[in-house]
Amino acid sequence: MAKGITRRAEDYSRWYTDVIAAGELADYAPVKGCMVIRPNGYALWEKMQATLDKMFKDTGHVNAYFPLFIPESFMKKEAEHVEGFAPECAIVTHGGGKKLEEPLYVRPTSETIIWSSYKNWIQSYRDLPILINQWANVVRWEMRTRLFLRTTEFLWQEGHTAHATELEAEEETLKILKVYTSFAEDYMAIPVIQGFKTDKERFAGAVRTYCIEAMMQDKKALQAGTSHYLGQNFAKAFDVTFQDEAGEVNHVYATSWGVSTRLIGAIIMTHGDDNGIITPPKLASIQLAIIPITKGEEERNQILELIEKITISWNGKFSFKVDDREGYRPGWKFNEWEQRGVPLRMEIGPKDFEKQQVVLVRRDTGEKIPVPLEELTGTIERTLESIQVNLFKRALKFRDENTFVINDYAEFKTQIESPGGFFWIHWCGKTECEDRLQEETKATIRCIPMGNPYLDSGKCLICGGESHRRVIAAKAY
Ligand SMILES: [Zn+2]
Repeated sequence: MAKGITRRAEDYSRWYTDVIAAGELADYAPVKGCMVIRPNGYALWEKMQATLDKMFKDTGHVNAYFPLFIPESFMKKEAEHVEGFAPECAIVTHGGGKKLEEPLYVRPTSETIIWSSYKNWIQSYRDLPILINQWANVVRWEMRTRLFLRTTEFLWQEGHTAHATELEAEEETLKILKVYTSFAEDYMAIPVIQGFKTDKERFAGAVRTYCIEAMMQDKKALQAGTSHYLGQNFAKAFDVTFQDEAGEVNHVYATSWGVSTRLIGAIIMTHGDDNGIITPPKLASIQLAIIPITKGEEERNQILELIEKITISWNGKFSFKVDDREGYRPGWKFNEWEQRGVPLRMEIGPKDFEKQQVVLVRRDTGEKIPVPLEELTGTIERTLESIQVNLFKRALKFRDENTFVINDYAEFKTQIESPGGFFWIHWCGKTECEDRLQEETKATIRCIPMGNPYLDSGKCLICGGESHRRVIAAKAY
């Protein structure tokens, strides 16, 4: 067991904090709720960013940057939006030593400032669509914070698109949901459920909020991404109209969508073990750590020379790091690379040198694999792929084993506490019942799943009223 990491079974929440400290991923900052993302954590974010950025560009999007400050009057233009966000906003009232004429909101999200620009950019159908993404920081004043999962300032991307028709905007919303799903499953190795939010949980100012939901190892849900169909709400608030081909003037249709650094928390809580974080190979900035095991100068030189010969052809195939630091014992190094979540480790000592082999150690299973040098490159590539696949399969199996169909409210109240999990429940559609569920059990309706296998009719778990499909209820982060 790793030093300084509480076991998951003992205290999951402590484990999470310990993993972040041991992996040197992030620290709390002097301002409550803010975080310092350390180089190991930031390297992971950079890989996620690069992958997503390419996916956005491949689907026709471009990047831009809008200001951090939003005039109060902009925020107030969309009533539901300001009502939803105002309680968690930081507001600047002074600048340059003077009281400002108009207070400035530190962006909690950028719909309003972006749509004030779109008003100037859009006149005709020829100006549409606009498919812009922004990489930025945002601030939401959080009372209860946890590193990566919920911090006052966080990093994210926010897409803001403008379209001529409702259909096109809806298509965009779903296209992005597909991108997020693929990113979660194919790169983060996290299985997700696609669905849409209930009215109560939908984004302030949206017509419909789509989401992907994942199950963490403590069986709580984590919302891993959202894609909103905004209808004409922001176009009307900012009076953004365009002339269509027939010469008629209409309001523009909008979408917005985002994922954030909270996804790092999702990776930790989906794949991590009692030794720390496990990074999926596709997102690992270092996929292979190479650790020479040597005594004395001569042996050291011999083995480092061999490593150089082996690795010379590896550039572009996978990323690796030779840990030739002196003054640290091999066991100490193994532990450190494990805690940093590097998916694969290669050990090479004098006996291996004699046999012309190395030993690979998988981070996900701990399995030790002796490999002859002539088969090494291919074996590393295959093993990295196998780790990526195994992490996904393991997470999917865990979610399946902890997902239940339930029809009795009393039973639900017990089950949600222990063993916990995702529960398919019948729900009549009333916010009243949703509120009661949350008050009485602390569980929420995570989403109304798409591709819902349970379209049977039944009785609402809470009120017994008529229900035509099941939804997913769970406790959530
Ligand atoms: Zn009901």
